[in-house]
Amino acid sequence: MQSNPSKWVAGHVSTLPKSGIRDFFELVAKMKGDASVISLGVGEPDFTTPWHIREHAIYALERGKTYYTSNLGMPELRKEISRYVAKHFGVDYRPDDQVIVTVGVSEALDLAFRAFINPGDKVMYHQPCYVSYHPSIQLAHGEAIAVPTYAKDNFALTAEALEAAWQPGAKILMLNLPCNPTGGTCTREQIERIAAFAREKDLLVLSDEIYSELTFEGEHVSIASLPGMAERTIFLHGFSKAFAMTGWRIGYACGPAVLIDAMMKVHQYAMMCASIIAQEGALEALRNGEEAVARMREQYHRRRDLVVRRFNEIGLTCHSPRGSFYAFPQVTSSGLNEKAFAEGLLKEQKVAVVPGTAFGTNGSGHVRACFATGYEQLIDACDRMERFVAGQQQG
Ligand code: PLP
Repeated sequence: MQSNPSKWVAGHVSTLPKSGIRDFFELVAKMKGDASVISLGVGEPDFTTPWHIREHAIYALERGKTYYTSNLGMPELRKEISRYVAKHFGVDYRPDDQVIVTVGVSEALDLAFRAFINPGDKVMYHQPCYVSYHPSIQLAHGEAIAVPTYAKDNFALTAEALEAAWQPGAKILMLNLPCNPTGGTCTREQIERIAAFAREKDLLVLSDEIYSELTFEGEHVSIASLPGMAERTIFLHGFSKAFAMTGWRIGYACGPAVLIDAMMKVHQYAMMCASIIAQEGALEALRNGEEAVARMREQYHRRRDLVVRRFNEIGLTCHSPRGSFYAFPQVTSSGLNEKAFAEGLLKEQKVAVVPGTAFGTNGSGHVRACFATGYEQLIDACDRMERFVAGQQQG
């Protein structure tokens, strides 16, 4: 009897929506051999991890650090995370039971969704948003409620939008400030209003602050630092972006002990612990990496100013992202929608950007351009975009 292997795929996996980003990256992959392609597509620092961090990890290996660590992560790393979070975010977490080290923020998100969502629980999240939120909520058998953010507000999340989207049964609010893909953040006052909303509706907040060190102006305010919020917030952070450590796969979560313990229950069976080498690198990053982060932030800031100025000059309206390394210009003035724009730009001018709808329907009319790319290359990419847009207007 012939068997069809697809029958073994779980229903909630086979019904996962196809990633809007996947088609596009397949197209980019086909052109990969072409050295003239400039990619503003992938959200990854172009910097290599600072040398002192790599050296520390190499030295750890030389000393024979090749074993499992405590499930929660190395105690000295948890202590360092606790110090760093208190210093930069103004929240005190006990290293012993309020911090868990994870395999990137990705694992921390997965743990949180699996630990806190009962089938059918509703999770509010602002959209456009990071590609993995919606499918991860679905994988955990939750129901996602998208809350729109708008270019006119610089993609800040507003309490009014939350009120309008709220439904009975909402249990979790997922935040990502500064936001991938929009670079949108909120002022202290806006975050205070979001916090008041979360308290009023008795929501658990998952706050993904992975881009917080890449805030270019104004203060970064962690919602966990506001009165009455630490007890209902899981603070998620990592090393991939600010410390240029994407390939190390290391991050962490902090929160009330009972909630970290629930995440730990999933983590101990699923992952056991994060790699000890990556944990050693993270330890050095927190102890001595702040200068390197400041240098990289300065570069991103300069690049942001360049691309935002050039995009607006070209006629692609672009708000200035206050954080992250993404610009999210509107491209409809070219006469094309976001998908046709991204495909045409790649085929005709060999510049890769991501259609905004890859980040949810509210991203329509926009593309995401990652400016974690060298300054000269960015100038070249902007020149090519200018030629592409001019070509559309003539054609
Ligand atoms: N959260 C956001 C908003 C991201 O943009 C990303 C990566 O792009 C992640 C989480 C995943 O981070 P990590 O590399 O720590 O798993």
